[in-house]
Amino acid sequence: MGLKECLQKRNFGETSEPKDSKVLSYQDQLRFVVQEHHASHLHYDFRLELYGVLKSWAIPKGPSMNPSEKRLAVQVEDHPFEYRTFEGTIPQGQYGAGQVYIWDQGTYFIEETLNKKENESLIEKGLENGHFNFILKGQKLKGFFSLIQLKDHSKQWLLIKKKDEFAIKTSSIEPK
Ligand code: MN
Repeated sequence: MGLKECLQKRNFGETSEPKDSKVLSYQDQLRFVVQEHHASHLHYDFRLELYGVLKSWAIPKGPSMNPSEKRLAVQVEDHPFEYRTFEGTIPQGQYGAGQVYIWDQGTYFIEETLNKKENESLIEKGLENGHFNFILKGQKLKGFFSLIQLKDHSKQWLLIKKKDEFAIKTSSIEPK
């Protein structure tokens, strides 16, 4: 789902959300962000940088560090790369009206020993195949995760924490 659809849904005269990708990306590391979004239904927007945009999923219950808590993640349109720093209030009457906070952010990769381009190529394949494993290096989200598409061409994926030294057995996250 393209960036165009994301931009078309918004009136940039009314909302302070970032508009386009003047900044394509930084350095040699891929970025991720999770934004806590108090829209009509609270959800967490999970975004992975890929080729200068943010591949995006809305996670109603938010990510979990507990491998037994599989989280539904509904893929939504790509967002501009600058969106990863957005916090603020989307005005009433605008698409996704409500407050947005950065819940977590950091870097991610599939293979630490590969460079950014090589990782992007693996992630692209993973998105096509509907299944990929990756490592997050955030403040809250750390270690191995999987994204698994429920059916071919479905927007519905599961975000699952894999068992590793960062995994926890207790439940979940609390909204602000
Ligand atoms: Mn959202």
